[in-house]
Amino acid sequence: MADGDERVVKGGQELTARTWALIDDVAEELGLELQVVQGGFKAGSGARASGSTHDVGDVFDIRSKTLPAHRLVDVVVAFRRRNVCMWLRDPDHGWTKTGPHLHGVLRDSVHGLSTGAAWQVQDYDRKNNGLTGGAHAADPFPRPEQIPFQLEDDVALTDADIERIAQRTADLVWNRVIRTGFQSDGTFDADHPQKLPARGLLAAAYGKSVQAADRLGVPSSADEEVAGNELEPFELLPDDQPIE
Ligand SMILES: [Zn+2]
Repeated sequence: MADGDERVVKGGQELTARTWALIDDVAEELGLELQVVQGGFKAGSGARASGSTHDVGDVFDIRSKTLPAHRLVDVVVAFRRRNVCMWLRDPDHGWTKTGPHLHGVLRDSVHGLSTGAAWQVQDYDRKNNGLTGGAHAADPFPRPEQIPFQLEDDVALTDADIERIAQRTADLVWNRVIRTGFQSDGTFDADHPQKLPARGLLAAAYGKSVQAADRLGVPSSADEEVAGNELEPFELLPDDQPIE
């Protein structure tokens, strides 16, 4: 089970870590504070008006009355983009059982979904509103492309990613440190106030890269035996300044 799959309780409501991160991601994108008033994994203890939809997996309600009315559709769309089948539930859109809220079902919930929530996903795909009985109607909201939300740790790095990260590190070191020592005629001013902490900074950058690689599970060069191509570790010089 990947890290994001674990169930986490916040404010008395339970969702997977990945879904909590997804909600934070939407909040950050829209600059809104989002409050989960009902989570998933209710196993029969959810709000009566929800039926059994919140019983299994990542199903959640977001409080709508504290959000600006003109942003509610933005919220719906932002969640839909992240693979959540979401609707605004209010009287204008066929919901009168309880107060207005936003109801979302994570399409690819790793712990599965209840029959009711799975039906809502199918109803979303039929371009309907996921309500039953007389309230059943066409989906009134925009329907963006849906892409599963991934935590950073879920994403396997490609060679191109690693190349880009290495290039970025090199650019940072160059721009911040080394370039400042060069004079306009191209010679290097060894007495420049920022002279040659470059060596130490490169060492620090190298150390940070190795730590980052460890975190991301990328094998470091030390794990590979490359005959005649061993890196000589830098040593920090006494006058080196710490990297920012
Ligand atoms: Zn709900």
